[in-house]
Amino acid sequence: MDFRIKNGTLLLSENEGLAVVNRELFVEDGRISFSGKEGKNYEEVDAKDRLVMPGLVNMHTHAYMTLMRNYADDVDFEEWLFKRCMPVEDRLPAEGAYWASLLAIEEMIRTGTTCFNDMHMFRGQSARAALDAGMRAVIGRGLVGEDLETDGRSRFEEMLSEQAEYGGGLAEFVIAPHAIYSCSEKLLVQLNEEAKKRGMLKHIHLSESVNEVENCLKARGKTPVEFLSDIGFLDDRTILAHCVQMRGRDIALIRESGATVVTNPASNAKLGNGFAPIREFLEAGVNVCLGTDGTASNNTLNMFREMGLLSIIHKGLNLDSTAAPAEQVIRMATENAGRALKKPGRIGALKEGAAADLIFLDLTEPSMFPANNPVSALCYSANGSEVSSVMIDGKFVMKDRRMLTIDTERTRFEVQKIADRYL
Ligand SMILES: [Zn+2]
Repeated sequence: MDFRIKNGTLLLSENEGLAVVNRELFVEDGRISFSGKEGKNYEEVDAKDRLVMPGLVNMHTHAYMTLMRNYADDVDFEEWLFKRCMPVEDRLPAEGAYWASLLAIEEMIRTGTTCFNDMHMFRGQSARAALDAGMRAVIGRGLVGEDLETDGRSRFEEMLSEQAEYGGGLAEFVIAPHAIYSCSEKLLVQLNEEAKKRGMLKHIHLSESVNEVENCLKARGKTPVEFLSDIGFLDDRTILAHCVQMRGRDIALIRESGATVVTNPASNAKLGNGFAPIREFLEAGVNVCLGTDGTASNNTLNMFREMGLLSIIHKGLNLDSTAAPAEQVIRMATENAGRALKKPGRIGALKEGAAADLIFLDLTEPSMFPANNPVSALCYSANGSEVSSVMIDGKFVMKDRRMLTIDTERTRFEVQKIADRYL
C-alpha cells in the first residue's frame, strides 16, 4: 500500500538542522518521497493538526525485562542485578520473554519508537515479537564467558541460528558481548574478529558504574575504555551503552575510534550510577544516541520522557541552561541512531528515500498547544501520549491510537500469567 499524507506539519531532517514545514508526503514501497507519481493509486491520509516526524530509535534496551517492571526498585545496584534480575532470567521460559517483549514493543509503539536495539537472553524471542508486531529491531544475544571454544560457544551459535531464522527484513543482528566483567579478554578479541569477518556491528555495556571502573583499574591497571581500545575492540561499528564513569583519556579514545555512545539517563540515575558527561561527548564530537535501558531499571520505554530528562539533567548538572538543547536531543533519538547503525539518512530521518518509519503527534493535545516551537515541544512538553499513529516500513502499526498488529488483551493475559508464576 502506498500513501499520500496531506495537510500535515513535517519535521524534516536537513543538513543544517531540523525544519518544520507544511508539505505533502508520499510513501512508496516503504520509502519516503516528496513527489508522487501521476496516475498512481495512493491511499490518502489526512494529517491535519498532526506533526509528522521520524520515529524515535531506542538504542539500548532489554525488551524481555518488561516482565520485571517495578519488581526490584529502590535496591542496591549489585542486588538489583545479581540477586533480583538474573535469578528471574534463569527460571523464565523462552515463551515468557516473547510475551514480555511484545508488551515492551506495544509500549514503544504507543510512545513513538519505531526501532529498538535489544540485548536479550532468550534465543529468537525479541526478534519473533518484533517481526510479529511489524517493528524494526536490532537484535543482539547477550554473550558471556571465557572463549568461543568452551563456555561462550553455545550462546554464539544460538545468535547465529536466530540470525539465520529471523534476519533480513526488519530485524538486523549484531554481536553483543554483555560487558567487560562478564566476558574474558580472549572472548572479546574473538567476538571482535567474528564481527569484522561477518560485517556485523557490536553492542556492549561499558563503564556503567564506579565499581566496574575501579575493578578494571585494579585488575588491569587501565579503565574499561582503555582496555577495549588496547585490544582493538573500539571502532566506528561499535555501540557503547552507558559510558557514565569516564576517566582520563576515555572520551578522547572513544572519539578517535568513531564508536557511538548510548546514554540512558533515567536508568543511570535511578540505579545510582550517575550522569554520563554528555556535554563533553558532544564537544569532543562523539556520536551520542539515546536509550531507555530495560524496564526493570527505568521503568518505562518512553523515549519522550527520556529526551526531556536528558536535557533537563544536563542543564542542571552543568549549571548551564544552554546544555543539551532540544534539537540536539531530538537528533540523538533519531538521526544519530541512523549513523550508529550505518544507515545515515535511511533510519531516523524524514527525507527523500528514507525508510517510512513515521510517527504522527496530535498538535491539539494540551501539551503541544499552542505550537509556538514544535521542536522545543517534542523535548520539553511531550510525554508520548500525543502519538496518535505510527508507521513502520511504510505500514501502519498504530492508527488513531488503535494497535493494528498486536493483540493487546492477549498480551496482558499472557504477561500476567507469567508474572504470577515466575516473579
Ligand atoms: Zn543494559
